[in-house]
Amino acid sequence: MTTPSQKQPRVIAVANQKGGVGKTTTAINLGTALAAIGEKVLIVDLDPQGNASTGLGVGRKDRGISTYEVLAGENSLAEACRETAVPRLYIAPSTMDLLGLELEIASESDRAHRLRSAISAHAERVGADETIPDFSYVLVDCPPSFNLLTINSLTAANSILVPLQCEFFALEGLSQLLQTVEQVKKSLNPGLDIHGIVLTMYDGRNNLANQVVADVKEYMGDKVYETVIPRNVRVSEAPSYGKPALLYDLKCTGSQAYLKLASEVIQREKTLRAA
Ligand code: ADP
Ligand code: MG
Repeated sequence: MTTPSQKQPRVIAVANQKGGVGKTTTAINLGTALAAIGEKVLIVDLDPQGNASTGLGVGRKDRGISTYEVLAGENSLAEACRETAVPRLYIAPSTMDLLGLELEIASESDRAHRLRSAISAHAERVGADETIPDFSYVLVDCPPSFNLLTINSLTAANSILVPLQCEFFALEGLSQLLQTVEQVKKSLNPGLDIHGIVLTMYDGRNNLANQVVADVKEYMGDKVYETVIPRNVRVSEAPSYGKPALLYDLKCTGSQAYLKLASEVIQREKTLRAA
């Protein structure tokens, strides 16, 4: 048994079963913004696509020990972590190997707890070993489905942060997601909170986008962050340079929005921790 300590990082799963809603973009840029304001942040790439890894400059040929080895129990989380160009921001990269993991560990009784155990084991080594980074936040970039990887992330997490694209079907996917969160709470992780919903790729010229924002706020109330991430071409260009938007163009509207989101996340953390 591990005893909770000050050293345990806050673990936030960035999840939505839909693809293309801004999970990876949010993990990278929220992670960068949190690091910029002094937090020590690890992004765990749990998507076999590895877009968070590429977007942070870790090329496919260059991944070495990845989250696959960590969840397979072959390596520690520290062995998979690497520094990025952003001070205080680390990434544990993923590879396509993750695609096979679900089948490989399907019959193991701890299959849903692999990430949780790896993070706890990491936290226990902090202090005893000075080379082990002492993370204050772990952001898990989830794949676009409710598979064992996402379940591992929700089992390990203190809370879930849901990027929601400002589009017509946004609410439909959200109710399904909320049901999954309830199931995980009942069976695997009673302490799981909803950190918040962040509306992404907002285009104010589009009436539908405004309607979606209003609907989501009506349905989810104050779980919706005040910060809305605008659609911004600089944000979509940045990954092809292997950089977060905040490094590529700090002044662009997208980067500024992610900085605002980071301060909201920290504010909410205080409320969640106090509860
Ligand atoms: P997911 O991880 O949910 O599949 P991504 O973060 O990869 O979604 O985003 C999907 C696509 O939308 C990517 O091409 C990304 O660059 C683009 N994108 C995400 N957020 C924005 C934004 N705020 N403005 C413009 N393009 C964006
Ligand atoms: Mg993604």
